[in-house]
Amino acid sequence: MPIPAAQSATSAAHPVPDRHGQNLFSTDTELHRLLALYLPADLLQHLRPHFERLGALAGGPLDELARTADRNPPVLSLRTRTGIDDQRILKHPAYVEMERLALSEFGLAAMSHRDETLGWKGKMPPLVKYVLTYLFVQAEFGLCCPVSMTDSLARTLRRYGSPELVARVLPRFQSLDFDTLAQGAMFMTEQAAGSDIAATVTRARLDETGQWRLEGDKWFCSNPDADFAMVLARADDAPAGMKGVSLFLLPRQLDDGSHNHYRILRLKDKLGTRSMASGEIRLEGAIAYLVGEAGRGFQQMADMVNNSRLSNGVRSAGLMRRALAEAEYVAAERRAFGRRLADMPLMQRQLQKLRLPAEQARTMVFQTAATLARSDAGEDGAYALLRILTPLIKFRACRDARKVTGDAMEVRGGCGYIEEWSDPRLVRDAHLGSIWEGTSNIVALDVIRAIKREQSLPALQAHFGDLIDQAGLAPAFATALREALGRAAELATTAAAEGGDLLARQAASSLYHCCSAIAMAWEGARGGSADRIEWAQLVLLHRVLPRDPLTAQVVPAAWQMQPGTEIETVAA
Ligand SMILES: Cc1cc2nc3c(=O)[nH]c(=O)nc-3n(C[C@H](O)[C@H](O)[C@H](O)COP(=O)(O)OP(=O)(O)OC[C@H]3O[C@@H](n4cnc5c(N)ncnc54)[C@H](O)[C@@H]3O)c2cc1C
Repeated sequence: MPIPAAQSATSAAHPVPDRHGQNLFSTDTELHRLLALYLPADLLQHLRPHFERLGALAGGPLDELARTADRNPPVLSLRTRTGIDDQRILKHPAYVEMERLALSEFGLAAMSHRDETLGWKGKMPPLVKYVLTYLFVQAEFGLCCPVSMTDSLARTLRRYGSPELVARVLPRFQSLDFDTLAQGAMFMTEQAAGSDIAATVTRARLDETGQWRLEGDKWFCSNPDADFAMVLARADDAPAGMKGVSLFLLPRQLDDGSHNHYRILRLKDKLGTRSMASGEIRLEGAIAYLVGEAGRGFQQMADMVNNSRLSNGVRSAGLMRRALAEAEYVAAERRAFGRRLADMPLMQRQLQKLRLPAEQARTMVFQTAATLARSDAGEDGAYALLRILTPLIKFRACRDARKVTGDAMEVRGGCGYIEEWSDPRLVRDAHLGSIWEGTSNIVALDVIRAIKREQSLPALQAHFGDLIDQAGLAPAFATALREALGRAAELATTAAAEGGDLLARQAASSLYHCCSAIAMAWEGARGGSADRIEWAQLVLLHRVLPRDPLTAQVVPAAWQMQPGTEIETVAA
């Protein structure tokens, strides 16, 4: 795809191109087309000014705030100056302003739990939240963790909390009033219980008043001063293993306004997400409320974790989009050897290698968010599909973000390595996506679990098979996609058989590449840009089909649409 000279917000004539000040929504024409394909026209029309505003913020002021907050990480304060114990996390005003934008102005955490947001009457489809997050995260990654945990906590509370607990707590998660709205967190990980939640040793005991009290250490707690946290703990009389773990809601403040009985011991010194606090917590008889059924903590928490995993995939897609857009801008504006970088064949190839994973992830965001809406509406088979798409996007998009942000850094040359530019922060943040909320191994194994327990593979094959049928592609390309999906499903079936764990990552990658290629081709054929069909072909050719590294690979002529073939487009 030829890159036109950019519409620079600053002086494009400067030899060191700077994209700062560009609107990240209005310059992303591919996103416009996808939105027209996936959102109802009236909702899209209503939301366009909000997308424009967030795009303008993310390309300028929000990016500045994020850089300031990254350079001024939160600090744990233990006492007042008069010596009174009063634990507080001191956040830089830049971070607080970002919190106001995310939680109050755009309502990112509340919009799925209230009937009116951004002036739209009725519930927002999940896709809107994810598109706003996709724009927001292009400027600020760290805060998106507390935003996602707040949203996910509210979802889990609504689903499993007692009516009395929900009535008491939920309104604060539905609020857009920055002074009173609640933030959420989840405290699961312990020193010996990260991936292996069954090893949880935090204790829960009923006191003489019938109140649950928690005791123990939690080792990784992001947003540790949140108003409420979901916590996993083991009741005194509970059996060992997963069946003994229960879910509790931990308030930061007790009813009398005093601080609940837990302490933040210290904050972590992190590679990325430096704007946002992650700490270690000691529970010292902290009062908490049982959520749902005792002994089903892990199953209930799984819903919250899955929601966060999807958000993680969205965030990685956003990081890749930012990295790619920066690289495209630099290539269009920077000159060497008397030519624009974008006109050099090797640079074009380098950009294409960034573009494919970034666009695959974007497509999978749209597909997964649309499936979440259908699953929540109770549509047949949608849950089984969601159950596999979520770990697929978490696994592959988060891994791809590491490479794409790193390789995009190189496109800016030496400046890419300098902290004044966005690249180093993107690289540092991108590495976290495939560690928290389940490492790559754990999430790949979760793909296999979905296949074994939820019958997710037939649901996936049916859905993506339908997309091939609907797309009206060149028959040879449609056949190649169908065969690739079938073979990826066979590999996944082998991985799900006894002793097949070793294949879990290979199977997850194969399914992701096939599904994203199919959905991209469908989007290209149904109103997205025609480039999407070309990108789908390249994904199939370079990521899925066997290749001979000693030959140049070209897209087979038979995969191209015959000239004059009408592509049916959907109304925007
Ligand atoms: C910045 C940051 C913030 C965090 N915030 C939170 C938070 O707010 N709340 C929270 O609860 N947690 C949080 N975490 C914890 C995070 O979710 C865990 O670190 C992560 O789940 C991995 O657990 P672990 O560190 O115990 O590693 P381990 O579970 O010990 O894993 C170590 C390695 O072993 C591998 N491994 C484990 N089991 C298997 C297996 N069966 N097969 C193959 N390989 C395996 C893993 O893939 C990994 O590579 C945070 C972590 C970080 C870095």
